[in-house]
Amino acid sequence: MKNSIEFSEKEGGFYWGNIYWGKNKKVAEFDAKKFKEFINQSPEEIKQACYKEGRLNHIIRAEHFDLSFLETICETARAARKVAKLEDKSIKKLLSSKSVLNFFAQPSQRTFLSFSLAEAHLGMRREEVRDIRTSSFSKGESEKDSLRTISSYFDALVCRNPSDIYDLFAVWVMKNSDREIPVINAGSGKREHPTQGILDYYTVRESFKGELEGRTFVYVGDCARGRTVHSLAKIMALHKGTEAYFIAPEELQIDEETEKYIVERGTKVFKETKPLKELINLADVVYMTRIQDEHGGEGEYNQDYVFSLEMLELMKEGSILMHPMPKRDEIDPRIDYLKKHPKVMYWRQQRNGMWARVALLAYVFGVDEQIRKHYQRMKV
Ligand code: ASP
Repeated sequence: MKNSIEFSEKEGGFYWGNIYWGKNKKVAEFDAKKFKEFINQSPEEIKQACYKEGRLNHIIRAEHFDLSFLETICETARAARKVAKLEDKSIKKLLSSKSVLNFFAQPSQRTFLSFSLAEAHLGMRREEVRDIRTSSFSKGESEKDSLRTISSYFDALVCRNPSDIYDLFAVWVMKNSDREIPVINAGSGKREHPTQGILDYYTVRESFKGELEGRTFVYVGDCARGRTVHSLAKIMALHKGTEAYFIAPEELQIDEETEKYIVERGTKVFKETKPLKELINLADVVYMTRIQDEHGGEGEYNQDYVFSLEMLELMKEGSILMHPMPKRDEIDPRIDYLKKHPKVMYWRQQRNGMWARVALLAYVFGVDEQIRKHYQRMKV
């Protein structure tokens, strides 16, 4: 990466990496250069920066996960669900001394609500900022200073942002502050949605009773900009013998960097433009996505890639249909009216999201083991 910062200037302020660095060019340059030093480190150094005392502290990228971390989260999610159902109070006390800010600078329904509810389940105090204009940018405050302020009030930050590097930016800010609070990436730009990756993994793991080796995933739609596709494909590459088919028109195909990453870890990759119908019988998991037209281009969905009602029958016995949601016209509307169809997983996938996030927050604050142990004691 070059060393000069090419700012874009809007309304007298300086932007780089889709992040606002304030109104003064000298200050903006000084700060942005420091951040650049941080992101120019090797992926391994960045990963280590996200750890604290041997545990993952900042949950920002799927590539930082390993199978033992994922198993811990899944076991905790299962235990939390049972404990909360049977005796809500014991789980509520766990994080009642902690506070969290849900800082969502992009639209969100599921992720926002499920985080908010997960925090409530654990008894956390929570605040939200959903409209970036209510922060001090309008007064010329840089996003760096604004985030640092958050670290002096809260014990954790859950953030969603259109910038592809906002997660790294938030970690960098926290590492420079005197209170390094955990950062949880609730979706950054087009590349990462690690907590969706975790909840998708939890859903897949529950569906296949933990038998995940050699599974075939068929990702359909906007594989280029669907950040959930990137996160899940990276996570599944941790399992041996996984195959990933990406079905999309050329311009919406998976990017080379992600392809290389998962191929290097042993996943067989097939980039396809054939109609979904021709490949559907190969899938253990069909993962549909919408066109991410908020990033530009046409929103028109290719009819060859629509999941029709008939396809449920063409899918293998025991296979599942997933979607990170929101969906539009890429799934046949008749499918929503089938009650408890064993292959239709996207509504259950949403519900799983809340429990996966309970588990994740518990893990970040080191109370996950208490939940699992409590559940064990309840069982005997
Ligand atoms: N909700 C997911 C996300 O935030 C999927 C989507 O919006 O299409 O990336």
